[in-house]
Order: sequence, then structure tokens, then C-alpha cells
Amino acid sequence: MGMKIREHQTPGYERVVFGDDEAAGYHGIIAVHSTALGPAVGGTRLWHYATPEAALNDALRLARGMTYKNALAGLPFGGGKSVLLAGDGVADRQALFRAHGRLIESLNGSYITAEDVGTSPADMEFILQETRYVGGLASRSGDPSPHTARGVFRAMQSAARLRWGSDSLAGKRVAIQGCGHVGQHLARELQRAGAGLLLSDVDDKRASALAREVGGELVPPAKIYSAAAEVFAPCALGGILNDDTIASLRAEIVCGAANNQLLEPRHGEMLRDRGILYVPDYAANAGGVINGCCRELLGWSVEKTVAKIEAIYSTIDEIFALAEREKIGSHVAADRLAEGIFAAAPARSSAPTR
Ligand code: NAD
Repeated sequence: MGMKIREHQTPGYERVVFGDDEAAGYHGIIAVHSTALGPAVGGTRLWHYATPEAALNDALRLARGMTYKNALAGLPFGGGKSVLLAGDGVADRQALFRAHGRLIESLNGSYITAEDVGTSPADMEFILQETRYVGGLASRSGDPSPHTARGVFRAMQSAARLRWGSDSLAGKRVAIQGCGHVGQHLARELQRAGAGLLLSDVDDKRASALAREVGGELVPPAKIYSAAAEVFAPCALGGILNDDTIASLRAEIVCGAANNQLLEPRHGEMLRDRGILYVPDYAANAGGVINGCCRELLGWSVEKTVAKIEAIYSTIDEIFALAEREKIGSHVAADRLAEGIFAAAPARSSAPTR
């Protein structure tokens, strides 16, 4: 009995392992895409996947995305991700996450996890009972969303400077889709900067409460794309930049926290053709991962970490400069910059640990 571990050879990935521990009700996959820059960092997702293939595909896609995100954020970490198949529900979270901790421990520090969709800081505490290769603990770096919001704000300032010659957002109207954790913090940053706010959420109460707090105007969810705003900030779902929505956008800049905003890469080209500046999502929303990695894994001070998040401004600058020079979309430029960083990495020595 105990954990059965199977290696799954996957071209382009350093290591992919399946773990099964029947007694714990555990079926998990860890995908390590790259450790060229350092140990692979990426969260653990707990989800009801239709098939194990769907779970594997999600793990692979997300792990690769983390390599790009961590590289572009200038972090000494590679990319990985794990997914747990929730099946018919979780009977015993402690048993489940301790089993996951054992699978992580078997990778000897080449993969470090944190929370993600379907998992919480409490689950990370269970993992910690089996391995030290875990972050996102409630007692350590805390809620990532204010840091993510600050990074999105800095990215927006950088795009504003390129578009309007000044990075001031005073007097600009920003349409925020999603008034959740990040949306709320972003709205407060923008209010302090003198921007006007148009707010939308499928949860009316949440949107109204935020509108009252920051003095914003409410917009029905379906109308947020065509709202009269200079900036559109997607802070809810992925895939929202698509054939239907891009045509109705009135904003000159798209910059928000949501992951995978472009439904397909060609939608990045569509935005470019319409003359809309698209700030690549994984560059703009890296504040949370920067905070978690720098504070928990590298032991940086608050000041040094804050400076790293503020520097998202110059990363966005670099992306747009490359896009301009090479006459490519900003989404392609971001990928190229990230690839340049991890391709040039020297062989690394030992893994940083907490
Ligand atoms: P959240 O769940 O707290 O907030 C999302 C909000 O969007 C909710 O209020 C929800 O009601 C609303 N929403 C859902 N569908 C909507 C729609 N069609 N129109 C308008 N509103 C809608 O999530 P969050 O932590 O604020 O994250 C927001 C996005 O940013 C997610 O895509 C997330 O993956 C991404 N992200 C978050 C972080 C972070 O630090 N929290 C970091 C990186 C990326």
C-alpha cells in the first residue's frame, strides 16, 4: 500500500509524475516544466476533471505558464504545477494533502507548491506536515491579492505612459470587470490615483459595496466591454478577449489581473489590429507570486520585495519596446522575453529553501 508513483515521459517537460494513494483517496499529478532558473514553483489545483487526460493537460499547460511567469518576473524559480483529481468529493482533506506532501517530498525540492484554485492556506499546512517545499502559508506571506493589484496598477501606469506620454492615471476612466479580491484592491489604488471607475460584477452586492466605497459607477456585466473607459481591466475570468468582445471594446488599453485573458493567441493580434495596447496578463499579474516567492522562499525584506513588484512597470516597458521593434504583438513579445531569460540561464546550484 502507500503511495504508488509513476513517471510519465513528456517531451518538453523535465518531469511529470502521477501519484496514487488509495487509502488517502489521493490521485495527483505534478508537472515540472523547467528548473533552469531554480526550483519549479507553482500552485496545487483541486478540481473535478472529467478524465485523467484532462487533468494532465491542465497540469502541463499551467506548469509551462509558470515557467514564463516566473522568468519574466525576474524570479530565480522555474515553473511547475500540480493538480489533484477531486473525484466525487474529498472525504478527508488532511489525508489528501498529506499524501500530496509526500509526493512533493519525493521530488527532493525540484518542485515547491502553494495554494491555487480549490486549495487554501489550511491545506498548505497539511502539506507542511510532510515536506518543507510549500509556500502560501497563512502565517507567512499572507493574501497575495493586494500585491497582485499593485502590480497591475504599475503595469497600467507603464501602458499609460506609452499611450498618452504620461503615466498619470488621474482623470482616466477604468472599467473593472470583477470586484473580487484583486478588483477591490485595484479600485482603491486607482481611486487614490484620481482615476474614474466603472465597476461590474455578477455579484451585485459586491459591486455596489465597492462602488459606494470608491465612488465608482455600476455597469451591468454584459456592458463592461463597451463601457466608455480609456482602460479595461479584466479581473474576473479567462478567455474574455475573444471575437465577440474585442469588437465592442472602446478602451485604448487592456490591463488586468485575470489569467489567460486571450481566448486564443490570434486575439492578441486582433487587439493589435484595433490599435488597443494589450498588457500581457502574466506580466501584469505577477505581484502576488513575486511577494510569495520573495518573502517566503528567498526571505527578502518587505522593502526589497515591494521594489521588485514596483519594477513590473519596467518589465511592461521592455515588452512594449520589443513588440514595437520587432513589429509583433505584446503577447508574443512577452513570451520571447521570458524564453530569452530561461534559455540563457546557467546550470544552477542548490535549491533555495525556507
Ligand atoms: P475572486 O474570485 O476574488 O474575484 C473574482 C470576481 O469576479 C468575483 O467577485 C466574481 O463574482 C466576479 N465575476 C465572475 N464572473 C464575472 C463576470 N462574468 N463579470 C463580472 N464579474 C464576474 O478572484 P481574484 O482573486 O480577485 O482573482 C481575479 C482574477 O485574477 C482571476 O482570474 C485570478 O486567476 C487572477 N489572479 C489573481 C491573483 C491573486 O492574487 N488573487 C493573482 C494572479 C491572477
